[in-house]
Amino acid sequence: MSHLIPNLQAVQAQIAQAEAQAHRPAHSVQLIAVSKTFPADNIRTLYQHGQRHFGENYIQEWHDKTHQLADCPHIIWHIIGNVQSNKSRLVAEHAHWLHTLDSEKLARRLSNQRPTQLPDLQVLIEINISGDPAKHGIAPEELPALAQAISALPRLNLRGLMCVASNTPNPAELRQQFGQMRQLLAQLQTIAPQADTLSMGMSGDMVLAIECGATMVRIGSAIFGKRDYPNAA
Ligand SMILES: *Cc1c(COP(=O)(O)O)cnc(C)c1O
Repeated sequence: MSHLIPNLQAVQAQIAQAEAQAHRPAHSVQLIAVSKTFPADNIRTLYQHGQRHFGENYIQEWHDKTHQLADCPHIIWHIIGNVQSNKSRLVAEHAHWLHTLDSEKLARRLSNQRPTQLPDLQVLIEINISGDPAKHGIAPEELPALAQAISALPRLNLRGLMCVASNTPNPAELRQQFGQMRQLLAQLQTIAPQADTLSMGMSGDMVLAIECGATMVRIGSAIFGKRDYPNAA
């Protein structure tokens, strides 16, 4: 576990350098530590060093961890995996952010299930930016209609867009996809003026994503190490 803090610091330094290179303000990019498949103890170690934003993919695994981490009350939970209907209530009742909203049906359930005494659930629409049929997210053409529908619902605050770019080492292809996300955010802002968030960039493509305007990066393996669950993405 001793590798966690040096890894966190190295990622923070890379983010700071990428912000400077892109002439963006320091701390304009939020680091989401993606802790899926790793134990609650690892999360606590990072929490004790000041990390507050954590991302999880698998709803049951995440919910178990929320119980184990009752001693870390300031964690901000970001759900970044696919949410099936029968799991929406856990998200509505315990998450702060959902990055993977991709249907009006799920939006309606979350809106109905979000407890009124909690702040609005912060939501991002997931865009299938690579067009890969095996990936989640809506097509760019579907954005206006879904954004209008979500904006009309109480207890959800539509904050922006999320994508998983192609798994490619080709920087031109990544720049094209991240650049299109930035244009789509501008389009979204004509419908939802408060939308200010672009969640894009993972361990392998974080620097390019920041160059292209990411405001949140989701970093797993560069902090926690290699995942070896059978179902790890
Ligand atoms: C697992 C995962 C990440 C983190 O990926 P790394 O390559 O380990 O940084 C980011 N986003 C999503 C949606 C993921 O599922």
